[in-house]
Amino acid sequence: MSAQAKIHCFNCGYDYYAYKSEMRKEHVVNCPHCGAKMDEHMWEMIINAVCVVDEVNYHFRKYHSERNENQFAINAESHEVPLEKFRFEK
Ligand SMILES: [Zn+2]
Repeated sequence: MSAQAKIHCFNCGYDYYAYKSEMRKEHVVNCPHCGAKMDEHMWEMIINAVCVVDEVNYHFRKYHSERNENQFAINAESHEVPLEKFRFEK
């Protein structure tokens, strides 16, 4: 299994991927399409988020093989919905 972050750049509108195996705290992966730079603290948060997702999936696999628990896998997704578009009841 490998984990990755799909990053959307609002400057150019394109997505790019950063792979967990290649993530280094001291090497921020900026947008490869337009060169938009990401804040170092935000990059660290991405690394932490990918590590948590990877760990959850690791434990799903582990408990499935060790305890025969049902296996699941997660992918965290986020969609930028403008506030005025929300139609949820309060
Ligand atoms: Zn970009």
